[in-house]
Amino acid sequence: MSIIVENVAKVYGTQRALNGVSFSIPSSEVVGFLGPNGAGKSTMMKIITCFLPPTEGKVSVCGLDVMKNSIEVRRLIGYLPEHNPLYLDMYVREYLHFIGDIYGVPQLNKRVAEMIDRVGLGPEAHKKIEALSKGYRQRVGLAQAMIHDPKVLILDEPTSGLDPNQLVEIRSLIKEIGKEKTVMLSTHIMQEVEAICNRTIIINKGNIVADKATSELRSGIGGAGHELEVEFSGAISRSALMKIEGVSNAVNDGGNSWTISIVGNGDLRKEIAEMAMQQSIAVISMSKKELKLEEIFKELTTANSQN
Ligand code: ADP
Ligand code: MG
Repeated sequence: MSIIVENVAKVYGTQRALNGVSFSIPSSEVVGFLGPNGAGKSTMMKIITCFLPPTEGKVSVCGLDVMKNSIEVRRLIGYLPEHNPLYLDMYVREYLHFIGDIYGVPQLNKRVAEMIDRVGLGPEAHKKIEALSKGYRQRVGLAQAMIHDPKVLILDEPTSGLDPNQLVEIRSLIKEIGKEKTVMLSTHIMQEVEAICNRTIIINKGNIVADKATSELRSGIGGAGHELEVEFSGAISRSALMKIEGVSNAVNDGGNSWTISIVGNGDLRKEIAEMAMQQSIAVISMSKKELKLEEIFKELTTANSQN
């Protein structure tokens, strides 16, 4: 396991920002840490990266306890903090040298050139950081996080504030990096985890509310039911639809189109088609209505139960 978090709590004054959080991340996984603002994402990441001590609980990175072995742990971790604090007065190469020196990176000139190439900073590498766009500043942030070749990367909202093109570029760069390193990235945007992460941990008010493969997120709340959008070739009565076992509601969308609510994950397509056929009516189209990502997120972050 790259990261093991056991029962971590963090109290700021009277506020409990983390409330007994546990999860573990195997090596070479790209994990999204998703939650609304104030959920505790940055706090958790500061604890993993040894910038904050936990109030309770235990965190280990590659088998090393963050409290007992903080110097070794920092060498294993690359960290891009939330607001990417860069030295704006420095030139890109100068800054990467400066960070590389702190870590005692051998053959630093070569390493800086490699990093510039790796994150696609080439055309901007001669500039001062203050002259760079937000997207290029994030590339500098990623380069500094990777300069000492860490095993684990912790990226706190790495795409916030980027324009749509920069967003796509930085996401694909993170995906690339994830092929060789363990990456944990935080975000408050559900689309982001779908685009980059194979696993998603959702945190809300200091509690983990979901921890599953990203591909299972949409189906994960299937217990709440799903909806079919169906268009028939002729008029169907609502009562005929409601008679089908498993249908909990039917709403006419105009003409012969209906939105049919179905309990759980049961497949009623055949039953619906047969009912129509008995009335000599055909099904013109039928599709499962995907829950909107926002709806799933809302459902998970307003539920109290652990999942
Ligand atoms: P997120 O990164 O998910 O937005 P944070 O970890 O930054 O959440 O914050 C979690 C909660 O802890 C928030 O309510 C925030 O106001 C509070 N908090 C964060 N840092 C501090 C601090 N240094 N002092 C007091 N409260 C803090
Ligand atoms: Mg944060």
